[in-house]
Amino acid sequence: MMRQYELVDRVRRYNPNADEDLLNRAYVYAMKAHGAQKRASGDPYFSHPLEVAAILTDLKLDDATIVAAVLHDTIEDTTATREEIDHLFGPEIGALVDGLTKLKKLDLVSKRAEQAENFRKLLLAIADDVRVLLVKLADRLHNMRTLHFVPPEKRARIAQETLDIYAPLAGRMGMQHLRDELEDLSFRTLMSEAHAMIEARLKDLETNSSALITSIERELTEALAKRGIEAEVKGRQKAPYSIFKKMEHKSIAFEQLSDIFGFRVVVKEVEDCYRVIGVVHTKWPTVPGRFKDYISTPKQNDYRSIHTTVVGPGRQRVELQVRTRTMHEIAEYGIAAHALYKDGRGIDGDALSQESRAYQWLRRTIEMLAEGDSPEEFLEHTKLELFLDQVFCFTPKGRLIALPRGATPIDFAYAVHTELGNGAIGCKINGRIAPLLSELQNGDEVDITRAEGQSPPAAWESLVVTGKARAAIRRATRDAVRKQYAGLGRQIIARAFERAGKQFSEEKLKASLPRLARQSVEDVLAAVGRGEMFSGDVVRAVHPDFREERKSASTPAKGEPGWFGLNKAASLVFKVPGKDEVSPNAIPIRGLNGDLPVRFAPNGGAVPGDRIVGILTPGEGITIYPIQSPALTAFDDQPERWLDVRWDLDEELHEFFPSQIIVNALNEPGALGTIATVIGEEGANIDHVEFVNRSSDFRDIVIDLQVHDLKHLTGIISLLKTKSVVSRVERVNG
Ligand code: MN
Repeated sequence: MMRQYELVDRVRRYNPNADEDLLNRAYVYAMKAHGAQKRASGDPYFSHPLEVAAILTDLKLDDATIVAAVLHDTIEDTTATREEIDHLFGPEIGALVDGLTKLKKLDLVSKRAEQAENFRKLLLAIADDVRVLLVKLADRLHNMRTLHFVPPEKRARIAQETLDIYAPLAGRMGMQHLRDELEDLSFRTLMSEAHAMIEARLKDLETNSSALITSIERELTEALAKRGIEAEVKGRQKAPYSIFKKMEHKSIAFEQLSDIFGFRVVVKEVEDCYRVIGVVHTKWPTVPGRFKDYISTPKQNDYRSIHTTVVGPGRQRVELQVRTRTMHEIAEYGIAAHALYKDGRGIDGDALSQESRAYQWLRRTIEMLAEGDSPEEFLEHTKLELFLDQVFCFTPKGRLIALPRGATPIDFAYAVHTELGNGAIGCKINGRIAPLLSELQNGDEVDITRAEGQSPPAAWESLVVTGKARAAIRRATRDAVRKQYAGLGRQIIARAFERAGKQFSEEKLKASLPRLARQSVEDVLAAVGRGEMFSGDVVRAVHPDFREERKSASTPAKGEPGWFGLNKAASLVFKVPGKDEVSPNAIPIRGLNGDLPVRFAPNGGAVPGDRIVGILTPGEGITIYPIQSPALTAFDDQPERWLDVRWDLDEELHEFFPSQIIVNALNEPGALGTIATVIGEEGANIDHVEFVNRSSDFRDIVIDLQVHDLKHLTGIISLLKTKSVVSRVERVNG
C-alpha cells in the first residue's frame, strides 16, 4: 500500500507547490475512516482510494482532485459526513466528495444498453464539476483492474456497464489512454475466449514482425530527418478490443486485418505535421480513402491528428497518425492534459475559438486556458453546464426517464405510460410521499401511485411541461366531459321515451342513427346532453309513426308534473307543482362535482331546499334555476329545453351552492365588516361583493355567497336583518 510520503512525492514531482499538509491530513483521515474495512481482494479498503489518487497523479491533477480521490468513498461507506469534510478540508473538496457520493448511488441502478447515452448525460449532469468525473473514471479504472477478485456473477454486469458507459465517456472527454484500458479490461471479462485468441495471435505476430516494426520506425525517422524534420516515430500494436470491433464490424478474419500495427509520428509544430505527410506520401503509395485531416477539422472531443495509410516496406500496409506533442497529450489524456499547460500559451497557439462543438464545455475549458487562467482555477470553474435543460429520473425498476427541466411527477408518469399518467393520484420521490406537482431533480426515483377509473384534473394541463402529458390530459379531460354529457343525454332520452310510453333501447337507437345524422349512440347521447339535439327528435327518429299530439292532449300521468312536455302546448300549461309532486323519475342533481355537467343560474344560483328546474343550454348542459326565478320566463316558448330535475345530495360532503343576496345597509364605516362577519360566522363563503345604488346615507350591496342549503341561507338573511346597520335584505331569484 502506498505510504503517506509516497503520495506527497508523486504530487510534488509535477507540482512543487502542492499543499503537503492537506495531502497528509486527507491520507490520515481516510485511513482512519475506512479502518479495518477490506476489499474483495482481502486488501485493506484504504488501498483503493490511494490507488485511485495515484492514477490521478499520473494525470497531474490539482491538489483538490487528489484529496477528493483519497476521500471519495468516505461519505458513502464510513461514518464521515459532508459537514465534517467541509469543516476539515473546505467546501471545495466537500463538494467534490459529495458529487462522487451521488455518482456512487447511481451504481446501484440497473442500466439497459439502450439507455447508456442518457445515463452518460445523467453522470455529466450530476457530476457538476469535471474533476468529479475524472475521479469517477479513475475509480472505475481501479475497480476494473481488480475485477477478478469480485464474485464472477457480478463481474459481467460491472464490465458491461464500463463498456457501455464509462469507456465512451472517457472517449468523449478525449482520454484515449483511459478508454483503451477500460475497454480492454471489459472485453477480457465479457468475452474471455475472443480476447485470449486475439492476444495470442498478436503475440505471434509480434515475434514475427518486431523486426519489421523496428525497420519501419528507423526508415521513417531517417527520411524525415533528411528533410530537417525532428520527429518521434513509434510503432505499436492495436488494442485487442479495437481489433475485435474491426473484425466484428467488417466481418473479416484476423488474417485479413491489415492495420494491426499503427505508427505514431509526434512532431513539434503544426506545420511539421503537414510536412511529414508530404514526405510519407512521396515515399510510399497511399491507400485511397484513408486520409483524414483532424487538425483542420477536429473531432468533437477535441481530438486532433492527421491519419493516413500507405503501402510501406514489404507491401505492408502501415497506418500513420501524425500530431504535435500537445495534440498527442490531449489525445491520450483528454481534458486532464490541459492541466499540463501552465504557461497560458494555449494549445499550439492557433485559432481554437473558431471551433464549435457539441461538447461546448470542453471548448470552453480550452478557451479559458488560452486566456491564461491557471489550470487549478480553470478546473475548478469548469462546471458541466451541459444538459442543464434536462433532468434524469428513474422508475422504481431502474428505467431511466429523461425529462425537460421543471418537469413534475405528472410529466414523469405520462412519459412512462399514458395510463399511468391518467390514473396518477399521488407519488413518492426517493421513497418519500411528495406532491404530484413537485419539481423533479436529477437522479430522483419516482414511484407513482395510481387508482383505476381516474381522470386527470383539467388544471393539470397548464401545470405540466411536456407536450406528451399536456396532450394526454387534454384528451382525457375531453373524454371525461363527453362522458358526462352522454350520461346526462341518456337520462334525458330515457325520460322522453318514458313519457311517450315507449321503451328506450340502444339497439333501436343504433338502427336510427342515419336519420339523426350521427355516427354512434354515444354521439347522440352527448349531443342531447349538450343541448344540441332535443330528446323529442330522438323519440321521433326511433318511432317515426309516433304522434306526440296524442300525448300532449292528454293530462299528465299521475305523479308527473305537468310543466314539462314534449311540445309547446304542454309547456303552456306551466304550473308550479306541489311539494309532493316532484317526480321520482326526475334527473338527480348533485353539486358541481357530480357526474353531470351542471351549472347554476347565473344570477342568484339555486340551493338545496329550492324547488328547481333544469334548462338545457346548447354546449353547456343543464343550468339549474329555482322554480320561482323570473329568468325562467325567457324559456317559456322553448318547452324542449325544460328538464325535470331533483336534488340528490350526499349529506356527508357538506357541499356549497351559489346564491346571491342584496343588502341595503347604512353607508358608514364598519357596515360591510359587520355583514361579512355575520356571513363568516355562519360558515358561508363570500364569492363576490359589489356596491350598487350608492346614496349618501344608504347603499345596496350585492353579495354572491356559497351556502349549504336554503335553511342555511334563510338563517343568514334573518341574522343580517337583526343588525342595526342593515335596513333590508333580499335574496336574488328568491
Ligand atoms: Mn471507489
